Amino acid sequence: MQIRRYNTIPGMQYGTPKEIWGFRTKPRRGAPHVLAENFIGNNADLLGTARVRLRRVRQIESLGAHHVIFQQRMHGLPIQRAYLTVHMGKEGSIYLIKNRVVPRDFLAPAAEFAIDTSTARKRALNSVAARSKSVRIVASEQLWFPVRSILRPAYRVRIEKRKPRGDWVVFVDGETGRILRKFDNLSEAVFARIFDPNPVIALGSARRLLNNGKFLVPPNSAYVSVRLRALRNTGSLDGRRVSTSLTSRRVDLKRDDLKDGSNFASDNPRFEEVMTYFHIDRAIGYLESLGFRGTRAIFREPLEINANGTDEDNSWYSPHDRSITFGTGGVNDAEDAEIILHEFGHAIQDAICPGFGQSPEAAAMGEGFGDYFSASFFAEKKPRRYQTSIGTWDGVGMTQFDPPCVRRVDLKLTYESFDHGETADEHDNGQIWSATLWEVRRAVGRDVADRIILESHFQLDGFTTFARGARAIIDADRNLYRGRNAESLRRVFRRRGIGPVE
Ligand SMILES: [Zn+2]
Repeated sequence: MQIRRYNTIPGMQYGTPKEIWGFRTKPRRGAPHVLAENFIGNNADLLGTARVRLRRVRQIESLGAHHVIFQQRMHGLPIQRAYLTVHMGKEGSIYLIKNRVVPRDFLAPAAEFAIDTSTARKRALNSVAARSKSVRIVASEQLWFPVRSILRPAYRVRIEKRKPRGDWVVFVDGETGRILRKFDNLSEAVFARIFDPNPVIALGSARRLLNNGKFLVPPNSAYVSVRLRALRNTGSLDGRRVSTSLTSRRVDLKRDDLKDGSNFASDNPRFEEVMTYFHIDRAIGYLESLGFRGTRAIFREPLEINANGTDEDNSWYSPHDRSITFGTGGVNDAEDAEIILHEFGHAIQDAICPGFGQSPEAAAMGEGFGDYFSASFFAEKKPRRYQTSIGTWDGVGMTQFDPPCVRRVDLKLTYESFDHGETADEHDNGQIWSATLWEVRRAVGRDVADRIILESHFQLDGFTTFARGARAIIDADRNLYRGRNAESLRRVFRRRGIGPVE
């Protein structure tokens, strides 16, 4: 049962793989744990399990597989996170190993235990709360705690906290009493009520939101409950991708219950902050899922947001400090995720191509792209009638379109109607570009369209033109899809009077 061809995910510390996949051993009869133990023995060099102590702790049954879990120990104590799991089909063929075993060469305690359990527990309590009334120790145990590749003696102390509720795990160094690590399991999962993208879409129409031009309180069914992801545990909405740091009177995660419908509705000023956090975090996650991640990531730092920075009915992206400000005039802009993603579109362009939008055509492309990105992102969530409308909540009182909205991405405009006059509006001109991009999406599908349109920005500059933008999309298709869509793309651009694209 020694495996020969397989893929690995290398680990950082020990020179052994963290994961081995892309193989499948021959089916075998026998108890899963026996098969697993044999496999580990036969592949000890690869796994780094030679002369280490593994204790079988659990076996989990799923519909199609057995999962056998081992925990490594040293001198009678477990090593934190040092698990090895063996996954096999019901017929006994192993296909996946996950491995955090510390190999023999690294197995040496960095120090001896010098403080006792009660000292460690006190240290842990103090690190969570100054006064001990609201906290209670649930469990504590000794273990070895890897700090890089060094094994520190440590205590793991679990603490329950009331007001605000918390479920803390604290690791205390067994020699020095220092806190090695602590985290709150509860604060890592933050749930909130939001609009996705807005109450008009959630309710299917504006009927229950407006009465003779007066706004009604959105009913509970206009909200959905979501999890806020990638938070950094600062107690505020600061995440890996987004931070609402510029917002005044911010959400305090220790105090505010974001999913409490009775006091966390859209009339709470902090509601917009949660909206911007959730929607921009998810949108950047979407860019990552398209391949713009790691060294190709479009955003290298959290995008900064001011969720209620002006009482004007306006929002903007500032290339100066690379932040987005949302206004609270009319319907609060950040109550409508279709508007949030439009503004986010400007941030995308500026991140790829600094100073985007300095000529009238480039500025129109900026507005058109934001509308396209927003429409494309939400299209599959919306009733057909709303799919090509932007700002269906922000623009609920506007009458130039049916259904009411701020702008559309499917107008029958061509480049000929571009207004080159002094007073021309880039949002209006932008509807030529968004309609063109929307047609691209209809021709090649969401995934391909979003990818080549984003990719095209890497070869544009702040003074670009519709024709250059179109050629950049064709180039992106050549680079990503070997030009598979070139002909349909050219047809779209020709129809819109944009070119030359031959
Ligand atoms: Zn804009």
